[in-house]
Amino acid sequence: MMNHKPFDVIKAKCPEFYEWLKEISRYSEVEKFVLPDYKNGIRVYLYTHNYVYNIIVKLPTIKDKTCSYCNSTKTKKMDTGNTKERMIFCYNCGKGSESKWGYLGCTVLDRKPVAGEDWQRGRDLADGAYCYKTWKEIKNDIIAFELVKVAKPKEKQITPLVK
Ligand SMILES: [Zn+2]
Repeated sequence: MMNHKPFDVIKAKCPEFYEWLKEISRYSEVEKFVLPDYKNGIRVYLYTHNYVYNIIVKLPTIKDKTCSYCNSTKTKKMDTGNTKERMIFCYNCGKGSESKWGYLGCTVLDRKPVAGEDWQRGRDLADGAYCYKTWKEIKNDIIAFELVKVAKPKEKQITPLVK
């Protein structure tokens, strides 16, 4: 029997992340397609034939939600339209200040080393605040990373039939 305990942790701590993972798991069977790890923060691994994707979750903390002017936690995340800018609005003093508001990020590693190297090459994909917008960016990056280039179709050679 597979040990499903890490998924219990994920479902309890970040139920929305579990819902997001359903979107990319056939028949919503997350546990068949996602390998979880919660020992060093919450992270999951997704495998394709050539790559392994590592998604890291850092949930928003009280500090993320605290106004840097008055220390109030009566704040709201502002929609800046840009995940790199993470601003909160404070209902207490009316100012806006920067917040990390959690983190969601993805890296990709080759499943096997390049010949002559003993390490797997890796790259950073999308990251940002812990929110659905970042999740969508990560999904798009994964799809874009998996698609292969197609050969440029050669223009049909018109051979003149001159005899
Ligand atoms: Zn404030």
